[in-house]
Amino acid sequence: MPSMRKIMLSSQDTAIIPNEWYNVVPDLPRQLPPPVDRDENKSSIQLLNQILPKAILKQEFTFQKYTRIPEEVQEIYAQIGRPTPLFRAHGLEKALDYHGKILVKYEGATITGSHKINTAIPQAFYARDEGSSGVVTETGAGQWGTATTVAASLAGITSKVFMVRVSFNQKPLRKQIMELYGGEIVPSPSPETEFGRRVLSQNPDHPGTLGIAISEAVEYALEHGLKYMLGSVFNSVLTHQSVIGLESEKQLEILGETPDVLIGCVGGGSNFGGFVFPLMKKFKDARIYASTASEVPKFSKGEYKYDYVDTAKILPSIKMYTLGSDYVPEKIYAGGLRYHGAAPSISMLVNSGRINSSDMPEDKVIDALKVFARSQGIVAAPESGHAIATAIEYARENREQKETILVNVSGHGLLDMSIFQR
Ligand SMILES: *Cc1c(COP(=O)(O)O)cnc(C)c1O
Repeated sequence: MPSMRKIMLSSQDTAIIPNEWYNVVPDLPRQLPPPVDRDENKSSIQLLNQILPKAILKQEFTFQKYTRIPEEVQEIYAQIGRPTPLFRAHGLEKALDYHGKILVKYEGATITGSHKINTAIPQAFYARDEGSSGVVTETGAGQWGTATTVAASLAGITSKVFMVRVSFNQKPLRKQIMELYGGEIVPSPSPETEFGRRVLSQNPDHPGTLGIAISEAVEYALEHGLKYMLGSVFNSVLTHQSVIGLESEKQLEILGETPDVLIGCVGGGSNFGGFVFPLMKKFKDARIYASTASEVPKFSKGEYKYDYVDTAKILPSIKMYTLGSDYVPEKIYAGGLRYHGAAPSISMLVNSGRINSSDMPEDKVIDALKVFARSQGIVAAPESGHAIATAIEYARENREQKETILVNVSGHGLLDMSIFQR
């Protein structure tokens, strides 16, 4: 055990941070359909081999259940706020007159205010260990970009973030945070890549899309021998996020609680999978709800089929619930939930009926955020507001059941206050 952690944390806290990540793939009821190249003329899988650190590739395709978390990453987890709190939400129970218990796992307590840092850190450290001088990625609203720049800075390597131009113009504070951490932020489409130049030649005022930003980041990484960072959807990312569920398991044991219901929100699925999978293994009878935006109803209205990971069709095609990689969702405040698909492992379990889905409209989400802020004092992220809204609805409909509901609140919403101006 590194001595630094003994200085910073009590022995109980130290014991809560896991030293291995959990990979759900070998525990799924069926074999996971592999990623494939849809276009015979291009090898998107070979592309992944070139732009991802070898350690990440190995974790992406492994059938091993547990992977040791490098000691240095465990150290950094402690510094960025792990273990995050798991507490009983007495205030919310009272506000709802709920007769059972509501427990909250709170990922907003990390230094970047969301769970995204949990995977950014190992990805940046593996890139550095394999001799890379820097990492590249894309970002929409900026949460993933922020986690990337922090992680790169802690690993002592450079970071470059292609940020969708509209967000770049609308959210100058996000850009400033990323620059504070030493990142280089470029509005996308940009003149720095061939793809960006092509888009700009057709429309010099193009507002940008996540798909274009991904294309630019991948091209830039290839061109400059840098590593590309994966924000969600991929198995390796869900594996890193398993720290959420593994910590929760130990915290529940300390509290002597057994959850009957598990709830989380799903964009690409990384906070949900990371939270639910380790717990599902232990609490086999728990009912599970994946909360999505009614405006992006991937599970209730989408199809379970092979589709592209990204709008630009650069990355491979995977089997998942999808609204179509060309789907343009309404502009909701929960930018992180606008993704057209969901991780293959989660999709398989929704398809088999093990995981239920719950669609939440934005007005209900805003109400839920207000109830949560006033009863618990926490301003949750709009994305997390969906999970809270599902929990509130469940509690209201099952008031007398005396069940224990555990909800994962993936981030804080202090940089998303504009949602309350409506
Ligand atoms: C990005 C984000 C999400 C959605 O991403 P997942 O990969 O589905 O977890 C949810 N909540 C917050 C706070 C986010 O920043």
